[in-house]
Amino acid sequence: MPIRQLSETMINQIAAGEVIERPASVVKELVENALDAGASRVEIVTAGGGLNLIRVTDDGFGIPQQELALAIARHCTSKLADNIHDIRSLGFRGEALPSIGSVARLSIRSRTATGDAAAEIGIEGGRVSAVKPAAANRGTTVEVRDLFFATPARLKFMKGERAESSATSDVVKRIAIAFPAVRFTLAGSDRATLELPATDDSAEGRLRRVAQVMGAEFPDNSIAIDASRDGVHLTGHVSIPSFTRANALQQYAYVNGRPVRDKLIAGAIRGAFADVLPRDRHAVTVLFLTLDPATVDVNVHPAKADVRFRDPGLVRGLIVGAIREALANAGIRAATSGAVGMMAAFRPGAASYAHAGPANGHRSYDAAYHASGFAGFDRSPQRPLDMGFDGAGFGENDQAAFDSGPLASADARAGTAEAAETLLGTALGAARAQVHENYIVAQTRDSLVIVDQHAAHERLVYEALKNALHSRAVPSQMLLLPEIVDLPEEDAERLAMHSETLARFGLGVERFGPGAVAVRETPSMLGETNVQQLVRDLADEIADNDTVETLKERLDKIAATMACHGSVRSGRLLKPEEMNALLRQMEATPGSGTCNHGRPTYIELKLADIERLFGRR
Ligand code: ADP
Ligand code: MG
Repeated sequence: MPIRQLSETMINQIAAGEVIERPASVVKELVENALDAGASRVEIVTAGGGLNLIRVTDDGFGIPQQELALAIARHCTSKLADNIHDIRSLGFRGEALPSIGSVARLSIRSRTATGDAAAEIGIEGGRVSAVKPAAANRGTTVEVRDLFFATPARLKFMKGERAESSATSDVVKRIAIAFPAVRFTLAGSDRATLELPATDDSAEGRLRRVAQVMGAEFPDNSIAIDASRDGVHLTGHVSIPSFTRANALQQYAYVNGRPVRDKLIAGAIRGAFADVLPRDRHAVTVLFLTLDPATVDVNVHPAKADVRFRDPGLVRGLIVGAIREALANAGIRAATSGAVGMMAAFRPGAASYAHAGPANGHRSYDAAYHASGFAGFDRSPQRPLDMGFDGAGFGENDQAAFDSGPLASADARAGTAEAAETLLGTALGAARAQVHENYIVAQTRDSLVIVDQHAAHERLVYEALKNALHSRAVPSQMLLLPEIVDLPEEDAERLAMHSETLARFGLGVERFGPGAVAVRETPSMLGETNVQQLVRDLADEIADNDTVETLKERLDKIAATMACHGSVRSGRLLKPEEMNALLRQMEATPGSGTCNHGRPTYIELKLADIERLFGRR
């Protein structure tokens, strides 16, 4: 076959193959056009999952009658003057309408503010009809019928009405978050109506729109983000660590107001939450990046969902840093929702708590380290984290005394009556008892608090290790005799390779012949620990993450592995003052509301809720 120029319709159909993947892509393009036209109301109607009908009506500035034919011609746009590096509109490629017109039956009816009457143009499978007068208010209505009738192969790929309608809802929600001052409605015989009344562009207005889309419980379970670095500005909200989803679909990101699905941003969010979320859980996030349009390329893919940053490291660093700092400043806070029925009354954590106490203040290393009390517990100088309750120093008699009256003489246990009164005013209250050898039951003025002592302590050790690490001063203790650990040769080699990193944690490891390492010193914080097990766990941790991790991430993981070894195990009996001390440490330590695996470390039941449970209210 000789080479020949493709017909205009064929060219448009080829473009449509990229731009118009499914009904939701049509909705995306048409809604973007409406927003580019300055609309304050956008109404979307679909039928048959969008395959039979998509109609988008806006009250924007409209298309002059004499430009209607151009609007549906390829490479015709009113949005790009002459600089591809300075794109401020959602559209700019001038190919959506001709692409849609090449694979469906498209009609556009429009009226400008100055136009006396509306006009209409149609295009079906690439065949354009003449412009004719019509009746309409100011704005534009674009109607798309029989999508893909001209390309049956694509039609076969559609997933069915339900899936296509829900993909369309997702598109509308995603874009609506970026335009809070615009009212959106999405209706049709194939769906439940979605109505998003206009709010405004203020921070509160934005959050209200987010709540319309993500659910009313999101604002109460999220933290505001606001940070800048080198001309890049980041705002938005991220969920607290106990408010998570099983997938990342509820992570919305915007670059200069454009919804994007970007790997770099998704990776940064994952990194920021790595400490506080289990691997299979995902944060809920809405993040807006604003930066000089010249430093970001949005012309990567015809659907414009991908972007390229000129300085990806800057963007990643900003996101990770801002989220981590916000999480740390928010202090202890666990989800207020998720449970139903009676369990709904047992609220993990307390929102009020998050607003009280030193945990919210700016955190310097010293403050956090000392506030978290490891020094305060220091009974033997070499074992500050030992806290005296690692089993060794806990005699039979002590246990008996404690067992005999866990619910009695609470005031005596808390010291004087005034001291007890003061404790009741703290966020986590006065410890009253330890039950099932792992749960501390405490009482505040208006609630009952239950703490998972193992989870809480593990978190405290982890935070202290990380803090100490950042100060580059993790004290270590020499072992009287080096401990020899036999390992597979690769593990021994790996540990030796990372010996400098491990030394920063106060763990002195060196090669000891083939298939073995010698441990000469251990981090003082861990107290007396099972060195053999610790070293093996660290070898596993390093093996799992050898190549991809940044040093910082690797250090945090090592800290987590170590924390696990240094923590109060469940099943250990605590003295009242030890329990109270643990509660005070939790209050003072940012992030201690969830354990290293993202589960809550305590739950709180309000007295009012208890009364409700007993039918007293
Ligand atoms: P692009 O959005 O990339 O410019 P489109 O094919 O989507 O390309 O639209 C072509 C042109 O038609 C736009 O540049 C705009 O001038 C006009 N247009 C399309 N939809 C609307 C609308 N709803 N209101 C006003 N003008 C519109
Ligand atoms: Mg467009």
